[in-house]
Amino acid sequence: MGETVRTARPSGTPSGTIWLVAASLYFLFAASTIHLTSDGRTIATVWPANAVLVALLLLDRRPRWWTVLSAGLVGNVAANWLTRGSIAGPLLYAAANGLEVVVATILIRRGSGSIDLLRSTGALLRFILAAGLIAPALSGAAGAATATLVYDQAFVSSFKTWFLSDGLGLLVFTPVFMAILGGQLTDCIRSKSPMQRLESLAYLGLVVATAYLVFYVAVLPALFLLYAPVMLVTFRVGPLGTKMAVMAIAVIGACATASGHGPVVMTTGDPVLQAHLFQSFLAIMLITCLPVAAEIAARTRLSRKLEEQAAEAHAEAITDTLTGLLNRRGFERRAGALLDRAASPLCCVAIDIDHFKGINDSWGHPFGDHVLRHLAATLRANTRPDDLIGRLGGDEFVMILQVGDHDTGEAICTRIQAALRQQPIAADAATHVLLSISCGIASITPPDRLRDVIARADDALYRAKAGGRNGFRSAG
Ligand code: GH3
Ligand code: MG
Repeated sequence: MGETVRTARPSGTPSGTIWLVAASLYFLFAASTIHLTSDGRTIATVWPANAVLVALLLLDRRPRWWTVLSAGLVGNVAANWLTRGSIAGPLLYAAANGLEVVVATILIRRGSGSIDLLRSTGALLRFILAAGLIAPALSGAAGAATATLVYDQAFVSSFKTWFLSDGLGLLVFTPVFMAILGGQLTDCIRSKSPMQRLESLAYLGLVVATAYLVFYVAVLPALFLLYAPVMLVTFRVGPLGTKMAVMAIAVIGACATASGHGPVVMTTGDPVLQAHLFQSFLAIMLITCLPVAAEIAARTRLSRKLEEQAAEAHAEAITDTLTGLLNRRGFERRAGALLDRAASPLCCVAIDIDHFKGINDSWGHPFGDHVLRHLAATLRANTRPDDLIGRLGGDEFVMILQVGDHDTGEAICTRIQAALRQQPIAADAATHVLLSISCGIASITPPDRLRDVIARADDALYRAKAGGRNGFRSAG
């Protein structure tokens, strides 16, 4: 997926909407995580809910702390009340969750104007450090202390489970939530052709199908199989695809493990060990695939930039800066190629302004430049887009017209000369200059060579000048 570097958007969304989105998504993820992946006593395997809050805080240029944090608190309490029927415990844990969200947001935002967490390997490392280590370690310490003091649980084991589930929750879900809530996903889908969309969907479908096979169907613990489709997505779909693939595996794997299915359950009967094994697998998958995705994203951006620069440099190299027409090099290149592949006759017209030196001398060089631009515009306006027009230098122009018969070539020259007569150019408030040109027309019959064709057209132009100017002659 082609991804652009996005910066945080101005805080345009009303706070009420942000609050509602934060509260309902927090409730949804917290309630379903508790319901699906927890046995009711221990903390969930992967905790995605905090990622909703971090994503919303990162997306706003000025984070609305109180709006987002209060919404999270309400969503958290509501989810626990509905699924566990208790409020006191969650309220105590909510402070730890809030601490985690605040620390992660502050650390990720520091020193970064971009909200693309996978923009580069450096940005990704900062994200892993903040969201995967520091923030969940602090909140884990606070949460485990609560578990020890209030519920009499073992500190180390509570800390380990909390740290892993919250760290993974932030690492896996924050990038995806940001892509969805920040519009990156929609932009990315829009930028693709229907075929590319189908291809991306097929690769992501392959990840889901493999995850289903590995977690629900396979009779041997074959977790390693998941690497193949995720790597395929990383290379073929892009970083956004990697984020979504890892998220899909996290969801499917967590559901399977919690309900007693899959390779993790085959390995050990201890639910806590199962959780830790699955968490370790996800963590390893993230720290191997995300850097690859970040590196590919950085290289894709670099090569796109280089392509743009090369295209710009090429356009500059073949353009006449004064008139915007092709310069000599551009004209020779394009006209040469046109003649090489021409199957039917064409027409070449050499053009030179009459007494241009006099115009420059009377009205100054800048006015002379203006006259050259005026002629270029007149030539463009009286020819077709696929006719080639170049300024070879000074007041010398040349055209290759996509017309086969000589009469049409002459008719075009007559039309251009008439257009110039109808458009006198204002030199000052009182004076208008009537521009006239002389033209030499030469027919092109394949396989004529450009140099010979231009020489014949020039020869005809010379005769037009000698014949009194303001007219055209045809090459014999
Ligand atoms: P003729 O009718 O015989 O063509 O007479 P002419 O005065 O037009 O003679 P010629 O075509 O030789 O003159 C070309 C002039 O174009 C000479 C030069 O000063 C002027 N010139 C060349 N390049 C530029 C330019 O970029 N801008 C302007 N203003 N003048 C230029
Ligand atoms: Mg001239």
